[in-house]
Amino acid sequence: MELGPITGLYVDGQDATDSIRTPEPWALDHQVHLFAQSEVRPGPLTDEGERWMERQQTGKVMVVCTCGYSSGLIDHAELEDTVASLAVEHTPTPASG
Ligand SMILES: [Zn+2]
Repeated sequence: MELGPITGLYVDGQDATDSIRTPEPWALDHQVHLFAQSEVRPGPLTDEGERWMERQQTGKVMVVCTCGYSSGLIDHAELEDTVASLAVEHTPTPASG
C-alpha cells in the first residue's frame, strides 16, 4: 500500500486541516499610480465680480507603487519609458485568487 501526502486532518471529528498547512509567504502588493503635478492661481475677476481658480499641469509626473517605489517628479516625456520599465517588477497584483 502506498501512502500519498496528507491532505486533511480531523481531530475529534473537527476539520483541522488548516493547522498542518504551511501558509503562503507574504509578498509586497503592486499597484502603480500616476500623479500629474499641477499648479493653481486665482483667475481674473469676471464681469460679475467672481473669481475662479485657474489650474494647469506643469508637465511633471510622479509614478508611485503601493510597494513603496516612487519615481520622484519626472518629465511627462519620460513617462512612457518609466512605466514600461516598471511593468515587469511591478506587475499589478490580482485582486483575488
Ligand atoms: Zn511595486
